[in-house]
Amino acid sequence: MNDTWQITVWGVRGSFPMPSPDYMEYGGNTVCTSLEHDGHIVVLDAGTGLASLGATLAGKSDIRRIDILLSHFHMDHLTGLYAFAPFFDPKAKICLHGGTGLKGYLSTLTGPPFWPVGIGDYPASLSFHEIAPGDTFDLEGIAVSTMAGNHPGGSILFRLEGTGKRLTCALDCETDEAAFRELAGFARESDLLIWDASFTESDLQPGWGHSTWKQGLALGRAAKVKRVLMTHYSREYTDELLRRQEALARYFTNDVLVLLTGCHSQAGQEPACIFAKEGMVITL
Ligand SMILES: [Zn+2]
Ligand SMILES: [Zn+2]
Repeated sequence: MNDTWQITVWGVRGSFPMPSPDYMEYGGNTVCTSLEHDGHIVVLDAGTGLASLGATLAGKSDIRRIDILLSHFHMDHLTGLYAFAPFFDPKAKICLHGGTGLKGYLSTLTGPPFWPVGIGDYPASLSFHEIAPGDTFDLEGIAVSTMAGNHPGGSILFRLEGTGKRLTCALDCETDEAAFRELAGFARESDLLIWDASFTESDLQPGWGHSTWKQGLALGRAAKVKRVLMTHYSREYTDELLRRQEALARYFTNDVLVLLTGCHSQAGQEPACIFAKEGMVITL
């Protein structure tokens, strides 16, 4: 059995897709990331990027099961469900996991009159699993832990562990001192932290339930995380703006400290900072 976890970025935007030339370097799809391990796919949120993942899975016979974890029911995390090719594959086994009301909400959203095909009418074998923050469950050997995110209407943050690896996904969450402490414990020593980098510090709006890349780096440092993957960018942030933010973020990592000073101030403590781009693959 191959122990590698392959993480792929399919969508990086919050709130709304941005399919125009100024957004193509980082990507215009709403948020979706997948983990592939030994024929098992775990999807973290079903934004429009999910359609691209679906296209790569069409006709693949080595996929045993697909689990889709939904952090909450805001549309930027769901609209990929309208165009996920494996739904049409009678051999596909797909399990959807999300908060209270999961099946009812998805049936309403993806059935008539809003969409021609209801989510219960696809040929694939679909199952629905309601979860609540604090729940733990197992996905074929991957242990999932959850915690509540501070977000309007609530969100669920996920930690996935297995084969000696740990991945934390914290999207659509706002931090304060107490939440930061709790998050640092939750994400402790993760190999990868997928982080809500929706806004720059100057654009951050308290109460909107989002965070910044700077908070992600601080959290990664406090939690001794190896790598922080910034994503869920504001739909208004062009490639040019994100390129500048990414360059700025590098000044907060040890790589640049080493470059500037020739020494590590906190050897081994600084997480690597990665700004997500669609199509990016990270191997754990
Ligand atoms: Zn969102
Ligand atoms: Zn949201």
